[in-house]
Amino acid sequence: MLWSGWGDPAKARELPEQVRRLLRDFLGVRAPDTPAVALESVRLPPVALPEPLLGALAEVVGSAHVLTSHEARVRHTRGKSTPDLLRIRVGDGSDAPDAVVLPGSHEEVAELLRVCTAGRVAVVPFGGGTSVVGGLAAARSGFAGLIALDLGRLDRLRSVDMESLVATFEPGVRAPEAERLLAARGLTLGHFPQSFEYATLGGFAAARSSGQASAGYGRFDDMVVGLTVATPSGTLDLGRAPKSAAGPDLRQLVLGSEGAFGVITSLRLRVRRAPAERRYEGWRFGTFAEGSAAMRALAQEGPLPTVLRLSDETETMIGLAKPDALGSGGSGCLLIAGYEGTFAAERQAAASAVLERTGGEPLGAEPGQAWEHGRFSAPYLRDSLLAAGATVETLETAGFWANLPRLYDAVRLALAGALGSPLVMCHISHVYETGASLYFTVVTAQEGDPVAQWERAKAAASAAIVEAGGTITHHHGVGRDHRDAYAAELGPVGVGVLQAVKARLDPAGILNPGVLVPPDGTAPGA
Ligand SMILES: Cc1cc2nc3c(=O)[nH]c(=O)nc-3n(C[C@H](O)[C@H](O)[C@H](O)COP(=O)(O)OP(=O)(O)OC[C@H]3O[C@@H](n4cnc5c(N)ncnc54)[C@H](O)[C@@H]3O)c2cc1C
Repeated sequence: MLWSGWGDPAKARELPEQVRRLLRDFLGVRAPDTPAVALESVRLPPVALPEPLLGALAEVVGSAHVLTSHEARVRHTRGKSTPDLLRIRVGDGSDAPDAVVLPGSHEEVAELLRVCTAGRVAVVPFGGGTSVVGGLAAARSGFAGLIALDLGRLDRLRSVDMESLVATFEPGVRAPEAERLLAARGLTLGHFPQSFEYATLGGFAAARSSGQASAGYGRFDDMVVGLTVATPSGTLDLGRAPKSAAGPDLRQLVLGSEGAFGVITSLRLRVRRAPAERRYEGWRFGTFAEGSAAMRALAQEGPLPTVLRLSDETETMIGLAKPDALGSGGSGCLLIAGYEGTFAAERQAAASAVLERTGGEPLGAEPGQAWEHGRFSAPYLRDSLLAAGATVETLETAGFWANLPRLYDAVRLALAGALGSPLVMCHISHVYETGASLYFTVVTAQEGDPVAQWERAKAAASAAIVEAGGTITHHHGVGRDHRDAYAAELGPVGVGVLQAVKARLDPAGILNPGVLVPPDGTAPGA
């Protein structure tokens, strides 16, 4: 993973000349004055952890697994949001951990938490490092130091129950490796977020991730049937049946807990038989509203495709290489539908009837295959855009169908108000019977302080989401960036519950301080 950007440097994407022209002529993008710094020039605070504490950590995991090198600290600084990349590119490593610690077992994690509680050391559980909401930028004030607890050594598939179709994984397994291990047994998880190449199973559970095939395979939290969690107060072992009426389901308390309650050290996941067939195709709708109504019909009446997404007019226009790709209309919105697994052909025929009835025009397999081919490439383009002087960032929300148009308008208006004339694209990325998520991509010319510029836009968009009745996040999670809006969604009693759970599981507050849970005494209205 590129320390200052995304992914495998060999896959870096050059911006085509027509995109450069569009950036310059329509958005006023100019090349930045200063290129990104070199890795060795990133400014890090001195290691604050005293030697005896570093020694105590090394006693637990072995000194080879406590890293304090410049490179290891830079690589564990924050996550991969655009502000994260903008900061690290100019050499700001102020949030770097003092040390990176790599445990090799549940017992070692539990013991590390004991040592850190006793020594007042803040702990940031670190999976793939792809958080885009400040989930890895914990507050360190009041602590003797801060470590990144990298789960990369916990990378095994422990067992597969072929009868129940449940696989037990360690949390540090990256998604491609999980798919490879399952494929060898004819299985799949079916979780394909755009961060697929680097994110880990533990991170998916901790941040309630949702993949591109969520219509067919469900969100990641639908896949988790059991969890083992090391907390400073002891171990939680949850999930002895797929469903249960034995009180509130504490698995739900861990899903989305973003490392603030404990460290997930094992996950039991529902898996499926790998599909023999995959069929992807494109459809054109005249307007976003018409396409959205078609998706609602599929979500409510069925059959639901495995992949279902709809780009608005702007995203469709920017995303399509060929002007005639939308068929006779030449304009409108592109819907991608994908069918995998049993009865794929039958489901495709039945869903196609619904799409035609609701005004869709079939475009054949090509747009679907093009989408499948490029489904993980957008983050590489972001690096090239940043280097060219454009800020590109995404944000997302979800709401009930009846409220979706209001949410869509409110966010676009807020972004335009904050940024002048940005390019704002949107797609419906995940659908449910009762509603859907909206995923926005924003491109704008960088100002002198692009981080402050984006923070202004993000604050405006977040306020608009709250005001329009949406949730602050559908799948990116809360981290530090969404913490206040999340608190507003929960209300004072809800925030109090969150704080009480935190106090019970992590009494010294060492786990991801400042992430997810508002500090005590700050509950709105408290
Ligand atoms: C380019 C890009 C595209 C993305 N696309 C998607 C997408 O399509 N869908 C989606 O849902 N998300 C997406 N994300 C967001 C991100 O990938 C997800 O939030 C993912 O779940 C994070 O996994 P990770 O392993 O990288 O976790 P990290 O980023 O390392 O951690 C995320 C949070 O979980 C905590 N954590 C990590 N592991 C554990 C553990 N074992 N126990 C307890 N806490 C833990 C961390 O402390 C942190 O707060 C994208 C991000 C990027 C950069």
